[in-house]
Amino acid sequence: MNFDLFNIIFIVVLIIMLLTFVFIIVMIFFPKIRGKIMSHQIKATKYMIDEAQDDLTDIATKTANIVKDGIKITTRAIKEGLSENNIFCKYCGESIVEDSKYCKKCGKKIISKCAG
Ligand SMILES: [Zn+2]
Repeated sequence: MNFDLFNIIFIVVLIIMLLTFVFIIVMIFFPKIRGKIMSHQIKATKYMIDEAQDDLTDIATKTANIVKDGIKITTRAIKEGLSENNIFCKYCGESIVEDSKYCKKCGKKIISKCAG
């Protein structure tokens, strides 16, 4: 009884291995069949995208916003790094170019150091 069960399991495993082997051989030597299977997978992907379109749009929008904020911060850092002659407005604290006459944020007159 016990021996028979192991025999059946052995044969089943052997058949599965053989089918897998045949499947791999067919995949390698018959590109037409492989293409048909692949086209089914592409169709499945298409249906998946159609089903999840709202979620995908949501993800894309959120990612775009995160990237946008990142670019803003980076751009500002580069701008401030490149303009070495920046001073800070004593009224509002905004970073402004040293030789400008008025603050771009609060509009108050800047008293330059060099003016005396
Ligand atoms: Zn100001």
